[in-house]
Amino acid sequence: MPARVVVGVDLGGSKILSGLSDLQGKVLAEVRLDTCPESGPEGVLHRIAGSVHELLQQAGLPRERLAGVAVGAPGPLNPVTGVVREAPNLGWRDFPLRDRLAALLQVPVWLDNDANLAALGEQRVGLRDQWPDLLYVTVGTGIGGGIIINGDIYHGAAGGAAEFGHMTIVPEGGPGCGCGNHGCLESLASGGAMEREARRRARDGQAEALLQAAEGEPDNITARLVAELARQGDAPSLAIVRMAAYYLGIGLGNLVNLFNPAVIVLGGGITAGMGDLLLPGAEAEMRRRAMCTLAGDVILRASVLGARAGLVGSLVLARRRVNGGR
Ligand SMILES: [Zn+2]
Repeated sequence: MPARVVVGVDLGGSKILSGLSDLQGKVLAEVRLDTCPESGPEGVLHRIAGSVHELLQQAGLPRERLAGVAVGAPGPLNPVTGVVREAPNLGWRDFPLRDRLAALLQVPVWLDNDANLAALGEQRVGLRDQWPDLLYVTVGTGIGGGIIINGDIYHGAAGGAAEFGHMTIVPEGGPGCGCGNHGCLESLASGGAMEREARRRARDGQAEALLQAAEGEPDNITARLVAELARQGDAPSLAIVRMAAYYLGIGLGNLVNLFNPAVIVLGGGITAGMGDLLLPGAEAEMRRRAMCTLAGDVILRASVLGARAGLVGSLVLARRRVNGGR
């Protein structure tokens, strides 16, 4: 029988990244498509299927060689039922992505949360299996994460574990969060949180340089702009970054006390773009907050795989399933 291949898909709100690899892990083709969430779940489903066909074509392989497809999607989702329960970025509710894609492609399909798969990618490929247990925290527009225990994703009862962004940090009076709660880590330390705080300050006349750089329009202020001005020494921008780092450190300290991890990997767009500003303060606060015996040993690492972590993790999952692993 000719060697079989697998496909991994990282489904995001704006991009679909997909890759094809052999069963040893060698990546043979990659495709990047716009998600076009406005086309609805059916439209996106067909775009994913289209990317799988394009990968096979690029690699010059017939369909019969494809052994299976693993998809990382925004959650919450249930990896056992294969249903995306809610994906606000995509506007989906209770969409049976796994079964629909399997019916379309006529191959086995596996579904997991995108941050879980990024965690698996970092543990298995990024850090080459050096630590069997690992926590992955992604700081971007929001905050998410993944828990790897003994080389496996920890899912919780219904696939919802590792929603690190929604641990309560400020119990009363904290900013509102997309989840409906207040004072969540995500509402205090994410890129979205920094953006919101910067815009608020600009409207209140407390962030002149930011407002000027945004051509007088507070809504033009982005986390990237806050980082840029913080690097130039702008005091309000520095204060916004310090605040986010402080809250992120509290969140990380809680995780250290809960899991006693050997290593925490930090990924996501904000970590990639302004980790130099954010991480030293966050790490100091984490070590201050966590119990001394636990805080002393934990290693904080920047993501090795960056924006490819989810894709790499989906390929790891697909290979593992095809090779008969858990
Ligand atoms: Zn929340």
